[in-house]
Amino acid sequence: MAAGDPRSQLPSERQAERDRMVDEQLAKRGITDARVLEAMRTVPRHLFVPEKFRQDAYRDGPLGIGCEQTISQPYMVGVMTQLLEVKPGDRVLEIGTGSGYQAAVLAQLCESVVSIERHAELTASARANLEAAGITNVELVTGDGTEGYPPGAPYDAIIVTAGAPAVPHTLKQQLVDGGRMICPVGSREEQRLVKMERRGPNLYYARSVSCVFVPLVGAEGWKP
Ligand code: SAM
Repeated sequence: MAAGDPRSQLPSERQAERDRMVDEQLAKRGITDARVLEAMRTVPRHLFVPEKFRQDAYRDGPLGIGCEQTISQPYMVGVMTQLLEVKPGDRVLEIGTGSGYQAAVLAQLCESVVSIERHAELTASARANLEAAGITNVELVTGDGTEGYPPGAPYDAIIVTAGAPAVPHTLKQQLVDGGRMICPVGSREEQRLVKMERRGPNLYYARSVSCVFVPLVGAEGWKP
């Protein structure tokens, strides 16, 4: 890591646990992108979970973060981040800030991240988490992410981290031509993680893997 790199400012406690998480839960299960592995070795996940779960922060599973929501399993964060193929100059939109952890990982790999959360309480705690981790290139917004965030559009990549009944049409329109989008799509109980690429007015479906997320609730999502 180069001197002056923003990542060199991140807290380094519990590095051995992060290394074990990356080696055992990610690298051994097919996460091969070296930049993604390095980002997840670097971001202090324990700063993104509530105090009562701090000890469990590097375990192989999701954890409660309040408002009946979760910080996703580390492996799922790795899968989604790898699929998104984020490049250093990219501007990324995330729907579903939750704890801010996914945004923090993306922020290591791109220029800037805008992340939207529908619960103001979670936006506030994510803001505190990002600040504690020393991450400065993430903008947080409270609102219905199914409507995207036009002031920052278009985005090079969009990641939806809650399960949707269908890919929100509005989000497609906020992608650059050639931009990528990842979205879990399916029923409330079970989804496929779908990767798409925008080419002109069309979205091309690249691939999908099965997954389980909390529901995306909003105008182009599930009803509350
Ligand atoms: N990415 C998060 C993290 O790193 O902690 C985990 C996301 S959690 C699985 C899904 C989040 O999506 C929840 O916080 C939920 O409130 C949020 N959400 C659901 N529907 C939403 C919507 N329409 N707009 C914005 N956020 C939404």
